[in-house]
Amino acid sequence: MPKTKWIIFTGGVLSGLGKGIASASVGGLLSSKYRVIPVKCDGYLNVDPGTMNPIEHGEVFVLDDGAEVDMDFGHYERFIGVSCKSEWNLTMGKVFDAVRRKERRGDYLGKTVQYIPHVIELIKDWWKEIARKEKADVVLIELGGTIGDIENELFVEAARQLKKDVGAKNIMYGHLTYVPVPYGVNEQKSKPTQQSINLLREKGITPDLIIGRCSEILTDKIKQKIATFCDVPKGGVISGVDVKNVYKIPLNFESEGISKIINKCLRIKVRLRMRKWRQLVKNMDEAEIPVHIAICGKYTRLEDSYASVVEALFHSSAHLKCKMEISFVETSGLKDPAELLKGIDGVIVPGGFGGRGAEGKINVIRYCRENDIPFLGICYGLQLAVTEFARNVCGLKGADSSEKNKKTNHPVIDILPEQKKIKDKGGTMRLGAYPALLKKGTKILGLYGKENVSERHRHRYEVNPIYHKILEKNGLILAGMSPDKKLAEFIEFKYHKYFVGCQGHPELKSSLLKPAPLFYGLVKAALDGKK
Ligand code: GLN
Repeated sequence: MPKTKWIIFTGGVLSGLGKGIASASVGGLLSSKYRVIPVKCDGYLNVDPGTMNPIEHGEVFVLDDGAEVDMDFGHYERFIGVSCKSEWNLTMGKVFDAVRRKERRGDYLGKTVQYIPHVIELIKDWWKEIARKEKADVVLIELGGTIGDIENELFVEAARQLKKDVGAKNIMYGHLTYVPVPYGVNEQKSKPTQQSINLLREKGITPDLIIGRCSEILTDKIKQKIATFCDVPKGGVISGVDVKNVYKIPLNFESEGISKIINKCLRIKVRLRMRKWRQLVKNMDEAEIPVHIAICGKYTRLEDSYASVVEALFHSSAHLKCKMEISFVETSGLKDPAELLKGIDGVIVPGGFGGRGAEGKINVIRYCRENDIPFLGICYGLQLAVTEFARNVCGLKGADSSEKNKKTNHPVIDILPEQKKIKDKGGTMRLGAYPALLKKGTKILGLYGKENVSERHRHRYEVNPIYHKILEKNGLILAGMSPDKKLAEFIEFKYHKYFVGCQGHPELKSSLLKPAPLFYGLVKAALDGKK
C-alpha cells in the first residue's frame, strides 16, 4: 500500500460507551492484512496516567518500553496484536510539554506561540512522525473524551486539518454514539446522535461511519433516519449492540457491513482473522463447566482497575472451554477468608500498593497455600506470598515488606538500593519488559515452554536477595531469575497443585489468540480441581 491511511475515531453523547474497544475492533479487522498503528489522544494535562488513582482512571497499562499508558492500549494490543509504544499515547500534558520545550529552545523565535498554528501543527507532526517511523499502513487515532469537551478541542481541530494534508481518499472519520431505548417508549431514539453529530460537524468533521451503541440491533428505520439527518450514506450507520463478550464486537461489526464502508472510504480491503477468533468466541459461548476465580485486592469496587487481569482469565477460559466466573473480594479488614472463598476454584492476588488490604491478602494467600487452592500472585501478590511463606513456613516472625512496615526485622520484600535514591513518584519504578530465565523442571517452565521469557513490570520492591536461600530451603522454588541471577522474577511452591507468583504482570501481554501462560496454568489447575 503506497500511502498511509488514517482512521479517526471520536465519541459522542456520553463517555463509557466503549470507544476504545470499538476502535480496537476496527483495528483488529484490518490487522491481518495491514500494519495498523493505534494512537490515543487524551485531553488531560498529566504527561501520562502513571500517577493517577485507578479509581479515577481505571487500570494503568504498561508497555514493553516501560511507558504507563491509558488502559485503551490494553484493548489495542489484545485486538490488534501489536506491541504498542510510549509515543502512541499523546496527552495534552505531552503536547504542552513539547511546545514549551520548543519555545525555550528558541524554535519559534520571533513568533507569538499560538494554539493555531503551532500547537495544532505539533499534534499533526506527531501523528505523521509515528506513521513514518512505523511504516504504518493504517494509523487509527482515537480521540479521548466526548465531542464538545473543551479539553479535546485541539485534537479535534488537528484531526479536521489532517484531511487536507493527507488527502480525502486517505482518511475516514468514525463516530461512536449512543442510541437509547427509553423505558416505556420502547423505541430506538436518534436525537442524541443527531445532536452529537451536529457538534462534530460544527467543528468541520462529517463522519463516514457512525456506530450506534444500543441495547438492540439498530433497525433499518433508525439507520435511515440517522443517515438522513447526519448526512452519511445509509450503509455508513452500523449497530454497536451491547455484548457480554467484547471479543464478539469485531465479528458483529463485520456482519453489519463495516468492511464495505472502510473499503469504500479508504479503498483498502478488510479481512478479519476470522477462523481462530470466531472459534474461541464460540468456545466462550458454548462453555458449560464453570470455573470460579476470586480476584482478591483493594479497589475491587471498580472492576476497571483490574481490567487486564479479567481479560486474561477470559482468554484462558476460551482455550480451555470453561465458563469463567469472576468474583472480586475486598481484602481490607479480611481476617478469615474461608467463608468468602467457599466454592472458589482459584485465586488471584493482583498487583497493588501500600498497606491497606495487604494483611487481608496475606490471609487469603495462607488459606490457598494450606488448602491446596490454585493461586496466582501477581507483583504485589508475589511479594505478599513470599511474606506469608516467610512468616508461616520459614518461621521468620514479623517478616514483611518494607513497603508496608518500614520497621520489620525481616524485610523479605525490600526496595532495591538503586530505587532508594529516587524521590519523584512519576515514572520512577522498574517499568516495562524485563527478561528472566526459567529453571528446569518447574511448572512455570512447562507453561511457557521456553527458558527465556519476558514480562512487563511496574514496581519498586523486590524479594530481598538475603532471604533467597532460606525461602528455597523451605520449599519455595525461585522458578525464574533475572539474567544476572539477582532478582527473583517467578516463584512456585513445590507441594501444591498450583501456587505461582510472578514479579511482572503477565496479564498485560495476554490476548485471546495467545493467552498468558500463567493464567492458563491457573485456570487449568482450577478446572482440573473440579474433575
Ligand atoms: N507495591 C509493590 C511494589 O512497588 C508492587 C507493585 C505492583 O503490584 N504493581 O513493588
